Amino acid sequence: MTDQASYKGKCFCGMVAIEVRGEPVAMGYCHCNSCREWSAGPINAFTLWTQGAVHVTKGGEHMEAYQKSDTSVRKFCELCGGHLLTEHPLWGVTDVYAAVIPSLRYTPTLHVNYAETVFRVKDGLPKFKDMPAEMGGSGELLPE
Ligand SMILES: [Zn+2]
Ligand SMILES: [Zn+2]
Repeated sequence: MTDQASYKGKCFCGMVAIEVRGEPVAMGYCHCNSCREWSAGPINAFTLWTQGAVHVTKGGEHMEAYQKSDTSVRKFCELCGGHLLTEHPLWGVTDVYAAVIPSLRYTPTLHVNYAETVFRVKDGLPKFKDMPAEMGGSGELLPE
């Protein structure tokens, strides 16, 4: 356990620091409206981790949460507004935004919620209409 990989991340101002340990269970892009509105970007590059892999190492008292739906608890720094992660309690995983942990080699394997896209990406990866079946979705694929 001591030799497992770890990746450090921080908010925009640096007051909140996190560390994720081990390897992500999935990496990809989410095109949903919620990710777009929350991130103010066209798509969200996500990395999913088991809940035990994610640790707040500094400034946890400055971490705020916003929960709009049952599926997502979005965490950010109250000082700078910088986003850190989204907990998905129903699925038992946490999305640490790829941009927050730059030392992790981001290797996406899928796109999810492509039905809601405003930004088509022709990278040859599978484009799920919503989610893969094993994550509770339809598993249906859409053209790029
Ligand atoms: Zn901050
Ligand atoms: Zn999303």
